[in-house]
Amino acid sequence: MTDESSVQLEDMTWTDVETALEDGTRTVVVPVGSIEQHGPHLPLKMDTLAGEAVCARIAEKLGDALAGPAIQPGCSAHHMEFPGTITISPETLMDTIESYCRSLDDHGFECIALVPTHGGNFGPVNTVAPEVARDIDATVVALADLEENMALMNEGMAEAGVEYQEPSIHAGAAETAVVLAVEPDLVRTDRLEPGAEGKISGTRMINEGFDAVTENGVLGDPREGTAEAGEAIIERMATAYAEQIEAERDID
Ligand SMILES: [Zn+2]
Repeated sequence: MTDESSVQLEDMTWTDVETALEDGTRTVVVPVGSIEQHGPHLPLKMDTLAGEAVCARIAEKLGDALAGPAIQPGCSAHHMEFPGTITISPETLMDTIESYCRSLDDHGFECIALVPTHGGNFGPVNTVAPEVARDIDATVVALADLEENMALMNEGMAEAGVEYQEPSIHAGAAETAVVLAVEPDLVRTDRLEPGAEGKISGTRMINEGFDAVTENGVLGDPREGTAEAGEAIIERMATAYAEQIEAERDID
């Protein structure tokens, strides 16, 4: 598959999917995104955009894979002080993920890879993936290590020559870079302003709410993000995740 649109499951017809399965397509890579505030300069669908870009790239790298429709909204209760954010319960998210896996398994896909791009979704993804995997034939791969996810983003920035690194990532340089790479018109470049600096504990963000740590909803400094860094982040993440999917799906 060379044409980027041809890896998107939701753009295909059922006959296209049937043909893809007959031709040996084995895996569906699913973004698990969110609709939540990302500062005054990034769109609410930031995490979904990032997940879609990474999953399309993973599917291209694997060759015998499709990018699934993004799951959104996600678990964003800690962002509810900011208007526009939509949150669902962990149970609803896990239920949706389970339904995705069961549906795709029914049709004969052998591996479903879940790629959460929003911090609040990592816990539910890690909980539900092994549960549903026990019940279906397909392998379920959860690319849900938050520390690894953040490290890959920082490594991508460094690779593109951005020296700035973010110990906590939300709407700062790394995420701004990704949107500059995939949908630059959605970055309000006249509203780039720094937020809370330094490492912010995830427990504190979840318990006290995001507004307790950052007034504008930003962590880090979005002014450091570049489109080149965004492209490097997507490529690095897709390469690492494609390797993990290949390793895990061949075990079963
Ligand atoms: Zn985000």
